[in-house]
Amino acid sequence: MRTDSWKAQPIRAAMGGGSMVSAVAANLREARTAVGSRSTAALARCFGERAILPGDPRYEAARRVWNGMIDRRPLAVLRCTGNEDVRAALDFAAEVDVPVAVRGGGHSVAGHGVVDGGIVIDLSPMATVTVDPSNSIADAGGGTQWGEFDAATQRHGLATTGGLISHTGISGLTLGGGFGWLTRKHGLSCDNLIEAEVVCVDGRVLRASPEENAELYWALRGGGGNFGVVTRFRYRLHHLGPNVLCGTIAFARASTRDVLRRYRDVMATAPDELAAYMTFGTLPDGERAIVLTTLYAGPAEDGAGWMERLRRCGTPLADLVASRPYTDFQKSLDGSQYAGRRAYWKSSFLSGLSDEAIDMAITCAAELPARDAILNIERYGGAASRVPPEATAFPHRDSEYLINIMSVWDDPERDGANVGWARESWAAMAPFVQSRSYSNFLGDEGQSRVREAFGVNFDRLATIKARFDPGNRLCVNQNIVPTSGAMTNIEETK
Ligand SMILES: Cc1cc2nc3c(=O)[nH]c(=O)nc-3n(C[C@H](O)[C@H](O)[C@H](O)COP(=O)(O)OP(=O)(O)OC[C@H]3O[C@@H](n4cnc5c(N)ncnc54)[C@H](O)[C@@H]3O)c2cc1C
Repeated sequence: MRTDSWKAQPIRAAMGGGSMVSAVAANLREARTAVGSRSTAALARCFGERAILPGDPRYEAARRVWNGMIDRRPLAVLRCTGNEDVRAALDFAAEVDVPVAVRGGGHSVAGHGVVDGGIVIDLSPMATVTVDPSNSIADAGGGTQWGEFDAATQRHGLATTGGLISHTGISGLTLGGGFGWLTRKHGLSCDNLIEAEVVCVDGRVLRASPEENAELYWALRGGGGNFGVVTRFRYRLHHLGPNVLCGTIAFARASTRDVLRRYRDVMATAPDELAAYMTFGTLPDGERAIVLTTLYAGPAEDGAGWMERLRRCGTPLADLVASRPYTDFQKSLDGSQYAGRRAYWKSSFLSGLSDEAIDMAITCAAELPARDAILNIERYGGAASRVPPEATAFPHRDSEYLINIMSVWDDPERDGANVGWARESWAAMAPFVQSRSYSNFLGDEGQSRVREAFGVNFDRLATIKARFDPGNRLCVNQNIVPTSGAMTNIEETK
């Protein structure tokens, strides 16, 4: 139990002294579904209205995350406004010995932004973005969403690699890697993270950068939320827009085989500026189609020829490629992805896209279980693949494609059909995928998949975990169990 934190004493005092702390803690260990009245008072004293407890009319909404299948009841959701709140929340969780879930944007498909019987550190109030255009950097709070980040940086004609949906959190996405339209041109989101401010489980606030706490900085770039609560992210920015050549081209489902083979051939020689994903899905009128979504991260006149080559992958049913604001495009896929829908995903990397893999993907997508179920193939590579696997915690640099089998639906009675389709499709694709996973697309799939997510970097991450979170307080994530005895093995770079 820590005794040196600034909030520990008020919490203990409010709970009625040391013996009462132990009594409440013991009580909570036994029955983690209710907060005792004295602990409630302690939270109220530290957090006021920002502590949301069972019984509060806001509780039902506050405990919900993006994936509507997740139905967990935390002891408290603590809306944190700064490092001191985060420290107090960590203290409180340690006092009552309960797990902590850290919530950035709440988009973890596994529901890692909430925990049964534990504390949710909700960073959503920390969403300020400050742009320094002369140095092409931006600082963003841990609760920022990509739509907010893009809006702030695009005011200066700048951007960094971010997610495809505007309400995804910058936090979880960056800490796990971060794929988006700019990955091939500018690397993963984590490749553009140049500094982070971290509240550690022991209450220290550290700056992580190449110069300070370099091991922690290395781990934050792909190792997920295992090492501390990141309250501020500093990104490198790049000139982009405000208008970019981008959009979607839909092709008839019957032509999928040829379309995908040509797409593969076009992308084999494409410049880093060209991003293009292929999605088996359903058009608004109900017609099944193979849809190409693309963005050229350079001058439109340079991209026009590449768009023409992509069009010639087949006979377009619809062609919506045009020059339009980047911020609009970054919201254009939000439509079906609103919070509260049920979701189940499977995802892996492919070393290449063989004819056989294409044929199997076609078979898997022949019957989609829901209108918004998709099978998606994303060409990767470019700048992200030129980073050595051990340079950051994100290891999967030489895979050529990501394949995502993603179902989104609303009716709980359709759970079996949707989950079953994703699992069966993933099993069918198994001969073609690598033993790798992207931690940000993982469900709760077990330690072997977590190991696959961190690959060659797993052991080093476990050692760093032992140094920064030896008790594994931050375990509600794609969890790296600390390697015991490793705490003295690493010399921190100052
Ligand atoms: C609709 C949708 C679209 C997506 N699109 C993309 C995409 O385009 N590209 C891509 O790469 N991924 C994408 N993802 C996956 C996304 O990267 C992960 O779901 C990611 O975890 C989301 O981050 P979050 O902050 O919103 O999630 P949360 O659920 O809040 O957090 C996810 C994990 O990160 C940890 N965490 C969050 N914030 C912090 C913090 N500040 N400090 C320490 N730990 C923290 C949490 O403990 C948890 O383990 C998408 C997900 C969804 C649901």
